[in-house]
Amino acid sequence: MISFSDLPLRDDLRGKSPYGAPQAPVPVALNVNENTHPIPDDVVADILESVGAALKGANRYPDREFLELREALARYLGHGLDASNIWAANGSNEVLQQILQAFGGPGRSALGFAPTYSMYPLLASGTGTAWIAADRAPDFTVAPDHAAAAVQEHRPDVVILCAPNNPTGTPLGLDVVEAVYDATDGVVVVDEAYEEFMPRDAPSALTLLPGRERLIVSRTMSKAFAFAGVRLGYLAADPAVADALRLVRLPYHLSVLTQAAAVAALRHSDEMLATVHDIVRQRDRIASRLAELGFVVHDSGSNFVLFGGVDDPHATFLALKERGILVRDVGIPHHLRVSAGTEAETSVFLDAMAELAAAPAARASASAATSLN
Ligand code: PMP
Repeated sequence: MISFSDLPLRDDLRGKSPYGAPQAPVPVALNVNENTHPIPDDVVADILESVGAALKGANRYPDREFLELREALARYLGHGLDASNIWAANGSNEVLQQILQAFGGPGRSALGFAPTYSMYPLLASGTGTAWIAADRAPDFTVAPDHAAAAVQEHRPDVVILCAPNNPTGTPLGLDVVEAVYDATDGVVVVDEAYEEFMPRDAPSALTLLPGRERLIVSRTMSKAFAFAGVRLGYLAADPAVADALRLVRLPYHLSVLTQAAAVAALRHSDEMLATVHDIVRQRDRIASRLAELGFVVHDSGSNFVLFGGVDDPHATFLALKERGILVRDVGIPHHLRVSAGTEAETSVFLDAMAELAAAPAARASASAATSLN
């Protein structure tokens, strides 16, 4: 058995680890910030009909320009956008990868404010882009002057602002986006994967697009929209950005099935988003209950909560897993992250946390048990 490092691999990939959130089949999976509510049956039936019709033409390549989908996404976003402003790919991970392929690459750099989404440095390394991790305040916020100073110091070609930020949940003011945009000649990406969970009166970075041709707002159907399995991420920007991404995308990168499913689901956006209100309620319930139990809860504008004050995150992770609950150890000392699930899933998680907080010995025995494996 050889390992990948025995192969003639690129030197800059040696020693790297792949993205690896566990995919264990547990009853309560709250570890990758999905919308855990199933898609309503009538929506499934309508999507199936569209996918079936698309399948009949699947002997041909799909529309390379996925025009109908871009029109549907523009309608969904509003803000005066049209299809020329929209680009999409198989998840916003692929959108971000294409952005780094076009605007990053060897000899170039991308900057983000850590701790932030773990895929940014991986996407940077995959595209040969140097990754610069600027820091955040101890409460994980980013102030506009701090952000602008980091950008002026490092002169990155791409800045990625995660709003709200994963894994901390921290909202990001538009003043930060404006300050960063004014401080750089590079491309500024605002990753709004979780935007739909923000209060409805909080403005999106979409409102900043007019007149800012280097600004890109990235979105996904994987989170609030409950469509993670279909893989559809997208962006809004000046039409020139989409033209740049046409240089690096693979031809026909969005299958007929993906396009048909996404267009059909967008016809039902109200129903697809109907659970957002309840998810926000469960998020707030997690925050207040964990605070009651003595954990340090960080402010979240997303569908997950980062909490500190965990003696041994790995032991707590394992003790929860033994109870059929998956959360995420994001590598921040004494912290764990949990996604807001359905009311029932959230109750299972909170009851387990109350039990663990009352009996810390349970954590110690869980960790002892696994160290024997
Ligand atoms: N951005 C952020 C901040 C995320 O947390 C995620 C998923 N965890 C993504 C992008 C990528 O999501 P997808 O590829 O499913 O659109």
